[in-house]
Amino acid sequence: VNVFFRPIDKINSVIETYPKGIAGFQRYLALLDTEPDIADRPGAVATSGLKGNIRFRDVSFGYTAERPVLNEVNLDIPAGETVAFVGPSGAGKTTLCSLLPRFYEIQSGSITIDGIDIRDMTLASLRRHIGIVQQDVFLFGGTIRDNIAYGRLDAAESEIAEAARRARLDQMIASLPDGLETVIGERGVKLSGGQKQRLAVARMFLKNPPILILDEATSSLDTETEREIQQSLAELSQGRTTLVIAHRLATIRHADRIVVVDGSGVAEQGSHENLIAGGGIYSRLHAAQSAREWRPSKKRH
Ligand code: ATP
Repeated sequence: VNVFFRPIDKINSVIETYPKGIAGFQRYLALLDTEPDIADRPGAVATSGLKGNIRFRDVSFGYTAERPVLNEVNLDIPAGETVAFVGPSGAGKTTLCSLLPRFYEIQSGSITIDGIDIRDMTLASLRRHIGIVQQDVFLFGGTIRDNIAYGRLDAAESEIAEAARRARLDQMIASLPDGLETVIGERGVKLSGGQKQRLAVARMFLKNPPILILDEATSSLDTETEREIQQSLAELSQGRTTLVIAHRLATIRHADRIVVVDGSGVAEQGSHENLIAGGGIYSRLHAAQSAREWRPSKKRH
């Protein structure tokens, strides 16, 4: 296969969105670099119908042998639960979440979904069960329709319209002369940050995965838009196991569970109330910062 086609394969099988900017692009290249190691095991099974019970057992991982990022992480996330990952920048929140779609191979331990080791599933079938919404949405220069359909290429017209409606893109689409057939990108209409986010949400309604990974936007949206997107994301996460790389107090507080990541693994976990009552790291962070809006970590890019 021509090496230049690999990123396209990758995008189709793996991610609906990928981060822009230098840091994002480097990460993206790093991700491509790791791909040769990550392949289907002999006998890997094309799995379907997973519910999304996630279990990490003694999971250790580092990008290099000298510097572990996660050390013997144990996590049990029942299907349908929303978990917020919090902790300082560089603590390993993104890394932890990237292990689930097998962007990287763990060094020891195991990760299972519904009791099945993710290494025993084909990569394609594993990733069909996982949807990712990142801060920077990958769009290509085609129609709005095609950009939504990218969430599931065989979707019917009615399903695309329904996904747009659920993501609250329908009014914007109705206001455009060409509607869903409006071309976006350099040769067409430019979408705002909020519209891009909604498009990413529409893709996810279409893909309909049991598991979602949300990398929360930090601050690029105005308050009103942010609130609307939050609302759409909350609807999207209904009935799905949702892992949120969290930056906002509102999301964190409303999560079923909070997992505090501290640079070597999971430092503590529990509900907001339990963690506050427990008097650990989370309660101290919360006490120190609850007066203003809490931004526990800032994006580097
Ligand atoms: P933030 O809130 O800033 O996004 P984070 O908690 O998500 O931070 P990670 O992005 O998971 O943290 O990073 C954890 C550690 O791993 C950091 O030291 C980071 O520099 C390092 N790291 C992240 N991605 C890579 C990579 N592709 N190659 C090598 N090291 C990496």
